[in-house]
Amino acid sequence: MEKLIIASNNAGKIQELKEMTANHFVVVSMQEAGFLEDIVEDGHTFLQNAQIKARVIFAKTHCATLSDDSGLCVDALGGEPGVYSARYAKDHDNDANIQAVLDKMQGVKDRRAKFVCAMCYIDKQGKEYALVGESFGEIAKARRGHNGFGYDSIFVSQDLGVTFAEANFLQKKSVSHRARAFEKLKQVWGINPQ
Ligand code: IMP
Repeated sequence: MEKLIIASNNAGKIQELKEMTANHFVVVSMQEAGFLEDIVEDGHTFLQNAQIKARVIFAKTHCATLSDDSGLCVDALGGEPGVYSARYAKDHDNDANIQAVLDKMQGVKDRRAKFVCAMCYIDKQGKEYALVGESFGEIAKARRGHNGFGYDSIFVSQDLGVTFAEANFLQKKSVSHRARAFEKLKQVWGINPQ
């Protein structure tokens, strides 16, 4: 079976992909593929960051590679936090990052926002595919709910009518930016969308 390297060491992401691609690929993490270096993600867009990661790994391994980059974009903040989502106020500090968004949105009427997930898939011949999924909503005035991660507690999903942190895992998965990008990838792979 063909190997697919995931440009991530995030156990959750890798497990999800293993389940979805069970019969098509042997899914391995960067670490399992022997790729231990840090890749600098200095792109200006989610897609550029995903491409940077996938291209570095493909160049070294010549194996099929999949990467993704995602984040929150708030209209009234000119698209911020955007590619800085994980470190908007403080690196990988969800609480500080959420607070920074809430503070900047205090008194702001237009609360529209979206989550974006860009994936870059490079097949073993080196052909590259870009797949982007989006999920729309609004920034809540305060945190609501305890599920999920990142900005979930302040993102009121347009599809669900509750924050992603109030939704359960399956509800979020039915409308999330990541799931939508993944559906597009499954079409590339010829796996039937659910
Ligand atoms: P990455 O793509 O895993 O690097 O995620 C970047 C950052 O975007 C995360 O640290 C979160 O702050 C934010 N983010 C991405 N996807 C989600 C989501 O589904 N819910 C909440 N926050 C997210």
